Amino acid sequence: MSDTCDILFTRGTVVTMDDERRILQDAAVAVLGNRIAAVGPTEELAHWRAARVIDCRGHAIIPGLIDSHNHLFQVAGRGLGDGMALWQWLGEFMLPLAANISSAEAVAAVRAGAMEALSCGTTTIIDNHYAPADTATTLAVAAALRDMGLRGAVARGMFGPFTDVARDNGLDAALFLHDTADEIASMRECLEHWRDDRIAIWPSPINIIYNDQELVRQSVALAAEFGVKWQTHCSEARVDPEIYERAYGARPFAWMEREGLLDQNATFAHAIWLDDAEVEIAGRRRCGIAHNPMSNEYLASGAMRLKDLRTAGATIGIGADGAAGHCMDLFQIMKQVIYVQRLALLDPIASNAWDAFELATREGARLAGVDAGQLAVGKLADIAVVSLDTPAQVPCFDLICNLVYSGSGRDVTHTMVDGRIVYENQRLQCVDGDEIKQQALDACRQLIRRLKIPVRGDGGPQASTT
Ligand SMILES: [Zn+2]
Repeated sequence: MSDTCDILFTRGTVVTMDDERRILQDAAVAVLGNRIAAVGPTEELAHWRAARVIDCRGHAIIPGLIDSHNHLFQVAGRGLGDGMALWQWLGEFMLPLAANISSAEAVAAVRAGAMEALSCGTTTIIDNHYAPADTATTLAVAAALRDMGLRGAVARGMFGPFTDVARDNGLDAALFLHDTADEIASMRECLEHWRDDRIAIWPSPINIIYNDQELVRQSVALAAEFGVKWQTHCSEARVDPEIYERAYGARPFAWMEREGLLDQNATFAHAIWLDDAEVEIAGRRRCGIAHNPMSNEYLASGAMRLKDLRTAGATIGIGADGAAGHCMDLFQIMKQVIYVQRLALLDPIASNAWDAFELATREGARLAGVDAGQLAVGKLADIAVVSLDTPAQVPCFDLICNLVYSGSGRDVTHTMVDGRIVYENQRLQCVDGDEIKQQALDACRQLIRRLKIPVRGDGGPQASTT
């Protein structure tokens, strides 16, 4: 008996993340079209005939990683804006950058960020894109992610009208350009014009704290009408729920619950400063929460109540969160998931490597609404192959601990999305990586010069070319 498939990964250690969480030594994964056709010991799959066989000896074969919250355009500010807490960072650095970045510069930065993510084994990204967020740029960002071979969504960030909260907390009016009706009309235009199997578009009122409440209501209604999820930032800074309560008489989750806005299609970036009642609401409504530990550490925002939220029933993913995370490598971010919890709770068993791996794969896939995150028959073929033949992986007694604590996106040799190899041995397969790098470099230098942001150095091998 023989079966045929398109690509057969063989002789690797397969981390299935299936219902039994099996880890199979000397095992294989068969891919037919965009789905996984078989998983099992190499010997058992010996009868499979494949158009291409990839020998994975000395490698782990894992589900592609899911980035639940990013702002890829913020790659333009990589390394800048250091040493500020959230509101100051937004007011003095990121929002001025966002208000001035051109469409072409944003797309160039998005492509560079996506390239880094793919090279680190990320297969799905929810890219919360808010600058510029006109219809044409939103669709161009979605097209860029599609053309690079990624899966995910562009969550189109909307500022809407300039609220009292935004003004009172020092945010620049420059991004709050449209009233709610215009903002929602543009959002509808994006949703109506975009059709793609891998990349979706979601509405994203940018931040529950400083968005107009009506913009939030209408965004959620629009998401329901088009059958997509939605995303917003919520309670990232410690002061956020108090600011909100002062302005509107209720904490954010209490207000959203009262308005009937919460279900599994509601996804939140951060949600750090929730009280017990809000944790209960987020869990009962099965909300998705994108946890961004690297960003939370960088901006000194705080430690999310990871265990409480998961116990309550919320779905948690992990995210890089753009320039506040400073790195698209989810291996680094998985590690920080654990360290933040242990340090915040002074408890060495507050979180562990399996938790972090689960969030980056199965649970993140649930948050993103994609049928991936595990290597099991019938699932989408989103796969990463990771070298175990590196100095940091010797010895390997516990693979999940090694991957999470000692692994790095730089160890990824193959990234497959939707049954297609999109990154292999340091080269993107769908697009020209060198061109992406050069365009991003040129665009980012131009932007930072125009903004007159002081830079201490502008080195690197290509520095002399511009
Ligand atoms: Zn964010």
